[in-house]
Amino acid sequence: MKQVCISEFMDPDAVAVLDKCVQLRYEPTWVDQRDVLLKSLANVDALIVRNRTQVNAELLDAAPALKVVGRLGVGLDNIDVKACEARGIRVIPATGANARSVAEYVVTSALMLMRGAYLSHAEMVAGKWPRARLSEGHEAFGRTLGLIGFGDIGRLTARLAAALGMQVVAHDPMLPADHPAWAENNVKPLALDALLATADAVSLHVPLVPATRHLINAERIRGMKRGAVLINTARGGVVDEAALATALKEGTLAGAALDVFENEPLSAGGVLADAPNLVLTPHIGGVSHEANVRVSMMIADAVRDALGV
Ligand code: NAD
Repeated sequence: MKQVCISEFMDPDAVAVLDKCVQLRYEPTWVDQRDVLLKSLANVDALIVRNRTQVNAELLDAAPALKVVGRLGVGLDNIDVKACEARGIRVIPATGANARSVAEYVVTSALMLMRGAYLSHAEMVAGKWPRARLSEGHEAFGRTLGLIGFGDIGRLTARLAAALGMQVVAHDPMLPADHPAWAENNVKPLALDALLATADAVSLHVPLVPATRHLINAERIRGMKRGAVLINTARGGVVDEAALATALKEGTLAGAALDVFENEPLSAGGVLADAPNLVLTPHIGGVSHEANVRVSMMIADAVRDALGV
């Protein structure tokens, strides 16, 4: 019987699907017990991870029988894909399965940040009534959303934003200008600098690769429209957090929503701690109940197919 190990949370129904046809270790705490995980992989045919298990040469050396890595989500920055390929190991992400959850998170954040609606909670519970200061927020209708990266999540976000009457522009140098996705979604392709200068809300949807590390740095933030807002659900490393904190303190940007961080979990007292107009969430853009079920079922089925069980 094939052996499968799951080292991070997976929906119980999908775990049950696998449990019927393979010898299964479902050990979601092993992501934090690296030694135990590595010692348990000797005969494992497939490993299923989310974004925290580092699938690197050290892990692959400990798993000589490994044939498949299932990734419960998208973004392969925790997986050494080249090392897997070199060993003939298939890497299977849950392409598109959590895109809707991320897209809804982005639109929620854009509305909240442009309106400034989130800014009153601390003052309100302290007995203040900051109505005058918060009366200058903006409607989304007619404003411009700029998407950097126009793949599954970018495209779905564009459709949701269009329903609110937003104009949508996007930058994606990998996508040719005649690709049908532009016209189908009524989105205008723009060069990065032009997008930054135009957008009232900028949202990031690129993978974290060397070319996108600190793509949003001090210089690019200076190129953004004054008073724009930034939303990052991609990966923390895409934004220079210190440069963002400075821009928020100086008021160059009106606000930011960050779901992902250069170091996760975020520690107390870092560069973002005293930045104003900032909404932080703990990497939950893609992990609603519905997305968890879709992602888990997709990977359970794909791993079964790949193992032929
Ligand atoms: P995708 O592969 O469908 O799309 C990524 C797009 O980025 C592609 O179209 C690609 O051409 C483009 N791209 C690559 N390099 C670029 C660059 N330098 N500039 C502009 N565009 C570039 O991926 P997706 O499903 O849309 O997901 C995007 C990213 O979102 C993932 O890589 C992952 O890191 C992140 N993500 C986060 C969460 C979360 O919970 N916060 C959930 C899902 C995905």
